[in-house]
This record gives sequence, C-alpha cells and structure tokens, in this order.
Amino acid sequence: MEFDTVIHGGTIVTPQESWVGDIGIRAGRIAALAERIPGGDRRIDASGRLVLPGGIEAHAHIAQESSAGLMTADDYYSGSVSAAFGGNSSFIPFAAQQRGQSVDDVIATYDGRAAPNSVLDYSYHLIISDPRPEVLSDELPRAFARGITSFKVFMTYDLMNLGDRGMLDILAVARQHGALTMVHAENNDMIKWMNARLAAAGLTAPKYHAISRPAIAEAEAINRAIALARLVGAGLFIVHVSTPEGAELVARARAEGLPVHAETCPQYLALTRADLDRPGMEGAKYICSPPLRDEATQGALWRHARTGTFDSVSSDHAPYRFDETGKFAKGADAPYPAIANGMPGIAARLPYLFSEGVVAGRITLGQFVALSSANAARVFGMDRKGAILPGWDADIAIWDPEETRTVTAADQHDAMDYTPFEGMRLTGWPVHVLNRGETIVEGGALKAARGRGRFVARQPYRIGPQAPTVPELDPAQNFGADIWP
Ligand SMILES: [Zn+2]
Repeated sequence: MEFDTVIHGGTIVTPQESWVGDIGIRAGRIAALAERIPGGDRRIDASGRLVLPGGIEAHAHIAQESSAGLMTADDYYSGSVSAAFGGNSSFIPFAAQQRGQSVDDVIATYDGRAAPNSVLDYSYHLIISDPRPEVLSDELPRAFARGITSFKVFMTYDLMNLGDRGMLDILAVARQHGALTMVHAENNDMIKWMNARLAAAGLTAPKYHAISRPAIAEAEAINRAIALARLVGAGLFIVHVSTPEGAELVARARAEGLPVHAETCPQYLALTRADLDRPGMEGAKYICSPPLRDEATQGALWRHARTGTFDSVSSDHAPYRFDETGKFAKGADAPYPAIANGMPGIAARLPYLFSEGVVAGRITLGQFVALSSANAARVFGMDRKGAILPGWDADIAIWDPEETRTVTAADQHDAMDYTPFEGMRLTGWPVHVLNRGETIVEGGALKAARGRGRFVARQPYRIGPQAPTVPELDPAQNFGADIWP
C-alpha cells in the first residue's frame, strides 16, 4: 500500500486512548493506522509529539457584519490563517441574515466571501434574525438540505431577538428537519433596564458593560430556552455559557436526557470583569457579551468543562480592532453600549485550553481532544472530521507538549491590533497542522494557498430515540391529539 504521507512515531490521542504509532495518509484521508508504517512519499517525524485530530472552531465571526452594520476585521483568509496557526484544521463561522434578506442570499453572500479565501475547510451556522413565513417553510429547509444544519438565534438585542413565540416556531422547524438551534441566551429586558439605570446615573465607562448584563439575565434565559426546546422536543445548543448558574441548568437538563448542548469560551476561563476596569478606554478591548465575570466563575466553568457539561470550548472570535474601524466606530469616548462587542481569540483558543487545561491538570488530554474537536464534529454533523480513524479526513494537528511561549498579538496572524491573552505564558503549541492531508502550517510558517479550503456539507442533527417530550404533545397521553403535520 502506498501513502502520500506517513506521520511517524507520535503519540496519537483520541478522547478514549492514546498510543504511539504511525498514520498513513492517501488522497487526503487517513488510510491506515499501525504500530509502524514503512514508506510514504513524505514522512513526518512526530516522535516526542502529540498527534491530535485537528481543532474544529465551532464559534467564530468572520467577514460578518454586526446587526449595527460593522464588519469584522478578519475575512476568510486572515481568519482561517489565524485558526490554522492555533491548531485548527476546519472551522464553522456564522453566516448572518440581515432583516429582509433571504437565506439563499445569505448563503450566496458568504460563499462569495469564503470560497476564494479560506485556507481551511469550512461550513457555516446561519444566524436567523428575520424568520418570515417563507424563511421557516422553504428557505431554512433548503439550507439544511445543502448541509447547513445549524443556526443561531438571539434572545437579546432589539434587532435580533425573536421572542418566545418566534423561538418556538423556529425550534419546531429545526426538530422537523433535523437541524440544531443555537441560542445566545440573555434576558433582553433585564439588560435594557440595567442600561437605563446606569445611563441615568451617568455610568458609561467600559467597566459598566459587565454590570449591565448580570449573571441572572443569562441564567433566566438559559432556563427559558431549555423549557422552550423541551416543549417542542427539539435539540438546543447554548453558546458561550458564562455563569455557574447557567452551566448548572445545562448539566441538569443533560442529566434528564434532554438533547441540550453547550460551550464556554477561553475568555470566561481566563479573564474577569476587572479587565474592563483597565485605565482609560483600554477596558473596551474586553467588552464581549455575555460579559466577563469573576474568579469563582472561572473555577466553576473549569469544573463543568471537566465533568462534561460543555461539548466544546470555542473562541467566539469576534474581531473588532481597538480603533475607529472597530471598537470606536461610534467615537473614541463612546459610552459602553455603543462600543463594538466581541474579542479575538481564534488562534489562542487551543494553546490556552492545552496549557491551562491539560498542563495545569484541570482536564485530561482526552478531554482536550473532545472539547477542541471531537464533540463539535459529532454535534454539528461533520461526519468525516474530529477523529483519527481510517476513512476520515486527514485533519491532524501535531503538538509539541513542552514548548513554552508568550502570547503576543503579532503571533495571532489575524487582522487584529490586540489580543486579550497578551503576555500569557503558555506551554504546549501546535507545530504542524494538516487539513485533508495537506500541510497548512509547519514550523511557524504558512504553507497553504488562499482558497484551498472546501465547504463541508454537514449531516442532519439527530436527536436520540429517548428524547423526552411533554405529555401534552404525546398522543398516548393527550386524548390522541397529534399536532405535528
Ligand atoms: Zn459569537
């Protein structure tokens, strides 16, 4: 058997096992796993290194306009390059619907942004802000059929939130067609009330952003989102969980067997609201929603990462520069509600999670693989990624578990002018990243051509056969009423 590439002598890690051996790659796929594989047109020596499934970044904003019309600093070239330097072999950014726009037009727009530029394989989660009848009946099912099987909705932001009724309608569409609804869960009216109180008191510095979005606003909305999904019998993915209260609600729902998934992000593990109180406007760099919390929250979120509450740790890379093109598009002294929301982190996600998770003893190496790649592949239907198995795409990240480096903005390889992780000393870095057997990054250098990445059509989201429903929707318990068409 001839191989294009043999990765030799590394410690191959899956969520369950690790073993020293070789990987034979042919035509972009893993063709053989063995203790020793001779030959290969190219041999990559991985001795002393870890050989992991390439990271899958499941939450990133790339070449995306915010609802206020502000474009992210990263496009699909810089965004995918930065992801690759951070140990990712593929990513799933958002394709956002503007009000009035058809879903077909959204996909065509993002195809035009991604296909000519991405160095990594990619897919999209839709963002739905305008679920008109034809969106629900025709456009979303058409998007699911072409392999875009997840979408995000908002419970907050006046221009985005669907209301409970809108959530129910769209959850029902997802249930019926095998798609997964992702939700940004914060109580919109609690936040608006806090904003009004803070504004009336003249408190508009960046640090008050963290005060304006209290933890209970997230917990209330997560509780409600789970209840809405439970009524419909639909799957749910709660993005960027930032509070212990929210994580506990997710853990309880999972323990009941509900198809509820969740992620947290490195910023909630690494940073606190004290970062928003840096001198001058520096705190604007740390404005994201939900906001950064406190040290007790960090410990609780790590515990939930360890015990399986979270499927993944994602970056929520939302790159707005520290200048008038980004954070200060509404002025250099803008009050916090007018400062662009979000922070970069697509390159730092996995080195941070490895160093502070695996090296610091908070999670195992197997859990790192699950949280960085394997779970996202399964939940989001990338059926040939996220595992090192024969027939799977040769999406592989080779890590040096001992290299120690300091994070700098320049090393992020993105279009940003800062990183919130600046100055952190991290141990364990990706040294060689492959996507479908092709080297993307090696030895600190980019090897991939712009536009080589391919769109990944994803499988439908399938709820397990035991997914509970409410008695009022069960014909055996509700006088035989069947409300599903
Ligand atoms: Zn986001």
